[in-house]
Amino acid sequence: MAVSIALRWVRRIVVLAFCAATALVLFAVFRPPPQDLPWTPLRLDQPAGLFTGRKTVALGRDATACRAVLKDAGLRFTAVTPRGPEACRVGNSVRIAPRQEMLTLAPVVATACPVAAGLLIWQAQVVQPAAQGLLGTTVARIEHFGSYACRRMYGRSEGNWSEHSTGNAIDISAFVLADGRRVSVLRDWSKGDAPGRFLHAVRDGGCPLFATVLSPDYNAAHRDHLHLDQADRGDMGWRACR
Ligand SMILES: [Zn+2]
Repeated sequence: MAVSIALRWVRRIVVLAFCAATALVLFAVFRPPPQDLPWTPLRLDQPAGLFTGRKTVALGRDATACRAVLKDAGLRFTAVTPRGPEACRVGNSVRIAPRQEMLTLAPVVATACPVAAGLLIWQAQVVQPAAQGLLGTTVARIEHFGSYACRRMYGRSEGNWSEHSTGNAIDISAFVLADGRRVSVLRDWSKGDAPGRFLHAVRDGGCPLFATVLSPDYNAAHRDHLHLDQADRGDMGWRACR
């Protein structure tokens, strides 16, 4: 009896050891890139991977780490002093310095640090390649309606606070191209031409990089902008892309 129990355990241990060895061999052979592993630190110069979006959101919990990531990427910014009443508290925001090629927002804006991180990856890896591929030029300026606004969702008097209330969102309205053309969400979204396809491509490409992406496809309130935010819904929280 005792022998058969011991044998059963030996068999289990052998199977477990075999599985662990197989996993190690597979890992060594296929070697997933760091951006596809949940435990590696975020770097903004790596291609976006399976965990880039969640890692960016998590930076909202650690202002120091988030600013270090922006600094490593070469972004010029100043930290915003924490201020504001509780629901509208700005605690982890950065004012992005103007006139820098890697993040060309207009007008000058302060956003929560994870939004700035998402925008950096988005501009380099989504917006510029889409502009080159679909419009044959680059984007010189990304126009927006702002980030911080102490208000509840849809400006209602009650209900959930908007991610804008802490600067953890930004509303992108248009793209000014290097050749002077301007692609606007309001005017060009529904056109099937190259500017319309460009807008859809940058919306789709934003979905892995931001916790929430809302476009004119979502509702009339978003007919003139792309809402991008880094809402923290926990490590396994839901993400929205509409
Ligand atoms: Zn918004």
